[in-house]
Amino acid sequence: MNGSLSVTVDLEDWYHIPSVCSSPFSVYRNVDEFFKTWNGRYDFLSEPTKRVLDILDEFNINATFFVVADTIEHYPGLVESIVDRGHELACHGLNHACKIDPDTKKQLMSVEEFEQRTLVAKKMLEKISGEKLVGYRAPNALVSGWMVDSLEKLGFKYDSSVSVNSFYNKTDSALNTVSSFPYYPEESELEAGSDRNFIEFPWAYCQHGLKFPASGGPMLRFLGSSFILDGLTQSLKRGHTIFYFHPLDISCTRFPSLGNKRPFYWCIKGKLVEQRVRHILSKLSEVDVMCLRDYSGVSCV
Ligand SMILES: [Zn+2]
Repeated sequence: MNGSLSVTVDLEDWYHIPSVCSSPFSVYRNVDEFFKTWNGRYDFLSEPTKRVLDILDEFNINATFFVVADTIEHYPGLVESIVDRGHELACHGLNHACKIDPDTKKQLMSVEEFEQRTLVAKKMLEKISGEKLVGYRAPNALVSGWMVDSLEKLGFKYDSSVSVNSFYNKTDSALNTVSSFPYYPEESELEAGSDRNFIEFPWAYCQHGLKFPASGGPMLRFLGSSFILDGLTQSLKRGHTIFYFHPLDISCTRFPSLGNKRPFYWCIKGKLVEQRVRHILSKLSEVDVMCLRDYSGVSCV
C-alpha cells in the first residue's frame, strides 16, 4: 500500500441527522426548534464518544474530529476532552444544516449566511482548541464548489466531503476528474485542478466494475468491515485515504424513534460496529496514520 490514512470521527448526535433536523424533509426545521420543543433525553453522544477516545488511545491514533459546533453549548466538557487527548478539531457546521438540497443540489442557504454561520462555528471551536482550525466536512456530505470558495476565504485549508462512487453524488459537479486521493479543487467547482491554496480529501471507494462508497459511516454499519477494508486497501494503493465513523455508530442505547424517510437508519449499531472499527484499525496497523492537518500537503499550501 502506498498511501497514508486519516481516521476521522464526525461528532454529532441523533437529532442532527437530516430526518430529524435541518433538511427539506426533517421533523424540526432546525436544532433551535428541536431544543425548544423536545422534552426528553437528548444526549446520546457523550457516552459513545468516551469509548471512541479510548479506542483511539488503544490504537495510538491521532484522529481528526469533525465537530458540529453547537455540541460545545449542549455537552459541556465533551469537545474539551477530545482536545485534551491530542486530537485535531475540524468543523462540521454550526448546527449540521444542509446547505444544498439533497435532490436538486440547489442552494438552501445564501453564500453570506453560509459564511457567517461557518465563521461563528470556526471561532467557537478555535476557542476550545486554542489553535487555528483548518478543516471542514459538509454536514450530510452535501458539498458544492461555491462552499469551497467560501471556506478558502474564511481561512480553511481543506475540506473532506467528496465521495466518488457509482450510486450517488452529493455534489453539483460530475466529479469525472476525482478519485479517492487528495487534490486541489478548481475554483467554484469540485473537479480536480492544480495549485490552489486548498485541498479536498475525498473518501475511499472500492471498484468491482462499479465504484462502491467505502470510507465508513452508514456503509460500515450496513455492509460490514470486510467491505470497508476492501475499499480502504484499494484506495491506499491509489494514495492517501479516509476512514470515518460516528460515535453514534457504536452507541448501544436505543435512540428516540423520530424522523422522516429513514426508518431503518439505525437498525445496525452498537458493540457489533465497535468490533468492526477495532478490526479495521488492527488490520491497518502497518499503515501510516495521521490527522488531516498533519498531511504534508496541508502544511505547505
Ligand atoms: Zn454529519
